[in-house]
Amino acid sequence: MAKLIMTDTKKIKKILRLLNRVYGKPERFKSEAPMDVLIRTILSQNTSDTNSDKAFAVLKANFKSWDALLKSNTKMISRLIRSAGLSNIKAKRLKDALSEIRRREGRIGLSRLKNFEIDVSLNYLRSLNGVGPKTAACVLLFGFGMPVMPVDTHIFRVTKRLGLIEKDIKVEEAHNVLSRKVPADLIYDFHLGIIEHGRRTCRAQNPRCGICVLYGLCMFKKKEYYRKKGEKS
Ligand code: SF4
Repeated sequence: MAKLIMTDTKKIKKILRLLNRVYGKPERFKSEAPMDVLIRTILSQNTSDTNSDKAFAVLKANFKSWDALLKSNTKMISRLIRSAGLSNIKAKRLKDALSEIRRREGRIGLSRLKNFEIDVSLNYLRSLNGVGPKTAACVLLFGFGMPVMPVDTHIFRVTKRLGLIEKDIKVEEAHNVLSRKVPADLIYDFHLGIIEHGRRTCRAQNPRCGICVLYGLCMFKKKEYYRKKGEKS
């Protein structure tokens, strides 16, 4: 067992070195208040960063605090965040989350989570309406700097192809497995590096295996097929 963990750790470090060589060391986001990360991540569900960033900027411009957003009309919020898609659902999720946090904390803020164990913080966030494992992990990683791996569609696909998680694993379990396997100090860079690789090279359709620096480390059965396909096109 110890040997297996060691092998995965070495592989993860090698993957990260290779990704950094191709894409450069990922630029870290400016650190954000945990509440902002929560709102931003709820808006980002099922849409692109461009669309959700636009909606987040509109909310920031229209409300001087998250308290003000909580007091406002759900329909109006929905109109303001239209660019993020699913705006009726997301407006309700935002209000539900803010209202529940206010009820639990007596104010809108998540600073108390920094004193909790990671699992307790994850459960706290997961129990809010509309907050799944990825959103909860984003709040802890980007809002508090805790070593938790958010697993989005790119991370799920690429780490599966690389053999870091089982083929039939559920996305929820993938959060736990990757948070354990990736060394704590590398989670942030690994998260960003794999997303970049998923967007640019290890795409869902027609992955560019022929130019992939991770080819030798990859367990994807069809990698040779896609390598040859790339040579022909
Ligand atoms: S070899 Fe292909 S499937 Fe494997 S990581 Fe690279 S692009 Fe993805």
